[in-house]
Amino acid sequence: MSLAAAYPSSWYAATAGPPPAAAPLAGAQTADVCVVGGGYAGLSTALHLARAGMAVVLLEQAQLGWGASGRNGGQVHVGMRRDQEWLERRLGPETAMALWRIALDARDHLDWLITGQGADCDFVPGHLHVDHKPRIVADTRRHVALMNERYDHRSLRFVDREEVRARVASHDYHGGMLDMRGGHLHALKLAFGIARAALGAGARLHPASPATGFARQDGRWRVETPAGHVLADRVVIAGNGYLRGLVPAVEARVMPIANYIAVTEPFGEAGARALIRDGEAVSDSRFVVYYFRTTADHRLLFGGGESYSYRAPNDIAGLVREHMLRIFPQLAKARIDYGWQGMLAITPNRLPLVREVAPGITNISGFSGLGVVLAPYFGKLVADALANADGAALDRLAALPVPRFPGGRWLRWPTLVAAMSFFALRDRL
Ligand SMILES: Cc1cc2nc3c(=O)[nH]c(=O)nc-3n(C[C@H](O)[C@H](O)[C@H](O)COP(=O)(O)OP(=O)(O)OC[C@H]3O[C@@H](n4cnc5c(N)ncnc54)[C@H](O)[C@@H]3O)c2cc1C
Repeated sequence: MSLAAAYPSSWYAATAGPPPAAAPLAGAQTADVCVVGGGYAGLSTALHLARAGMAVVLLEQAQLGWGASGRNGGQVHVGMRRDQEWLERRLGPETAMALWRIALDARDHLDWLITGQGADCDFVPGHLHVDHKPRIVADTRRHVALMNERYDHRSLRFVDREEVRARVASHDYHGGMLDMRGGHLHALKLAFGIARAALGAGARLHPASPATGFARQDGRWRVETPAGHVLADRVVIAGNGYLRGLVPAVEARVMPIANYIAVTEPFGEAGARALIRDGEAVSDSRFVVYYFRTTADHRLLFGGGESYSYRAPNDIAGLVREHMLRIFPQLAKARIDYGWQGMLAITPNRLPLVREVAPGITNISGFSGLGVVLAPYFGKLVADALANADGAALDRLAALPVPRFPGGRWLRWPTLVAAMSFFALRDRL
């Protein structure tokens, strides 16, 4: 029996079925690549490296899919965390277009995982992004026109106030956009699916095996765990918001933020459709985003609220409930069956941190709350580069500017809290 942290008591853990069979690392192992972190990014890196014929050992400190990958909203977005207008302004039209192509490839890659690799995860198509202020609606309309014309993204369309309110039983929203390439899925089933495919391809996956340090040995990296070590030519760090200072070069640019989810009692099919008529994923324009959807067993899964500490509040369900009732006051009497938190990993400008942090050690993280589609694909890009298949897309990502958080290791928290609190306050005005 492993002493490592168990899965949180989430709706995902209650409905995912048993995790893939894998044992902790014991003794010494060698590999071409050692991957640290068993979320979407690490598992997918392991899958693609193994498919390319490389020897790969993955270390996960807790359980496979235990981190953000097994706890998130399950919302499938098409695009980067920043919209194309922002990317064009800040990085130029050519880089913005290249990032858009990477985002589309990432979306195709998710389909490949689901249908080509058997990562069945209850995918439901449709993602509706809604505006919580009337003044934002004109920008949304302009954004949809730009995406349709300049990016030829035809699955996206503008949705007016009447249609939004017919789709979502809330008076909070004034317009939005619907993308039928988006959708939602069962987050932990996706992680399990990638893990099973990686095991099937020959990757060695070890839960309950924290990497505790790295040292050079005979020109290779020696990665320590409490019960053994891995000697590898290369290391991929995919620890996201759970690294807790293991790699200071990552920590300077990637900050963990806690985000909360609650899941209600089941309402039956008609009750669920009375909340979100067609069952798509919904997220809104708040700075601290509200995101929600109904589940296969007809509950409402609602995400909202965040804080800047690993310590979980005593009553997560109660905390999220307050947010949920702002959108769905008709649920005042609904029971909350599950509440949990997960750590996002954000960067100062919300661009991902793909970087060689030491010779032979590559980090992929900082998806800034949008990793369901991107994290598995970034794993593939790292694997492709390490297996010498193709490093062009990875180079493009590695060249993205990601500044350090101001304030250094300790002061960055209060600095960020002040900034985030200001924006969260603006959501309410
Ligand atoms: C509450 C919440 C809601 C979200 N909702 C959405 C959403 O709806 N849509 C979306 O696109 N994205 C969403 N995200 C973001 C998305 O979940 C992440 O971007 C994605 O899962 C990142 O995957 P990852 O593999 O990089 O990290 P993780 O899944 O966090 O995996 C990192 C793993 O590394 C392990 N680890 C860390 N340090 C060590 C070590 N020293 N040794 C061994 N293992 C280690 C951790 O235990 C963890 O399992 C959400 C995130 C959260 C927290």
